[in-house]
Amino acid sequence: MIKIRNLTKSFNGSAPVLNGIDLDIEEGEIVAIIGPSGTGKSTLLRCVNLLETPDAGSISLDGEEVPVAHASKEQTLGLRRKTSFVFQNYGLFLHKTALENIAEGLITVWKQPKAEAYKKAQAILQDIGLADKADSYPASLSGGQQQRVGIGRAMASQSKIMLFDEPTSALDPEWVGEVLQLIKTLATRKQTMLIVTHEMRFAREVADRVVFMEGGKIVEQGPPAQLFDQPKDPRTRAFLQRVT
Ligand code: ATP
Ligand code: MG
Repeated sequence: MIKIRNLTKSFNGSAPVLNGIDLDIEEGEIVAIIGPSGTGKSTLLRCVNLLETPDAGSISLDGEEVPVAHASKEQTLGLRRKTSFVFQNYGLFLHKTALENIAEGLITVWKQPKAEAYKKAQAILQDIGLADKADSYPASLSGGQQQRVGIGRAMASQSKIMLFDEPTSALDPEWVGEVLQLIKTLATRKQTMLIVTHEMRFAREVADRVVFMEGGKIVEQGPPAQLFDQPKDPRTRAFLQRVT
């Protein structure tokens, strides 16, 4: 469903942070990305929905190939509509309520009438177990609740693929479980997801495929049982020994 080809990115002429990434993700597939710090995992996600402009490469989503280094305005908007991003630090508007945060993208990106957007947002709040928090501002929600709103916002856009960048790493340990649980629920609904995570147990449980990145490249990938239990590349083995 999504084909990433030769995705390349460097910052200010320094060595490439992404060094020709090729990655295919099938509809309904859940792919986890793991790897050392500074290896380009976040940059990869940010390039997929053009929060960063890649230097080269293409992304095809549902057959439409976008040359991402020089995408037109329409192509950029198209990719943004087909992807949604869940940020490490939730990325909520602090002066907007939970309901307004979820409705925001429907109004600005999808140009839906406000009444309709709020109705959908209310249904999503119900779905994520926060119906009674519609009028709460982020500051009065727990970290876990804030991140669930962040995920609710991604759910609202009904995008083809959800991109998660370490969705639990900013959370106090007590809130991690409820966020992982919500992601698991989305997995049972066959929501296509690309998840950067340092939660190896979670990756093993929820991912169909795990991708190990190092130095801006994909070193190795495979089903969780294979990658975690029988890693082929010495770099993968060394990384797993450090983190598990
Ligand atoms: P972590 O596990 O720590 O989150 P990561 O794999 O997500 O790491 P990235 O955030 O993608 O790594 O960063 C990869 C490299 O690119 C790092 O060396 C980082 O300093 C550099 N980098 C990322 N964003 C920028 C930027 N906007 N300007 C300059 N350098 C950047
Ligand atoms: Mg990162």
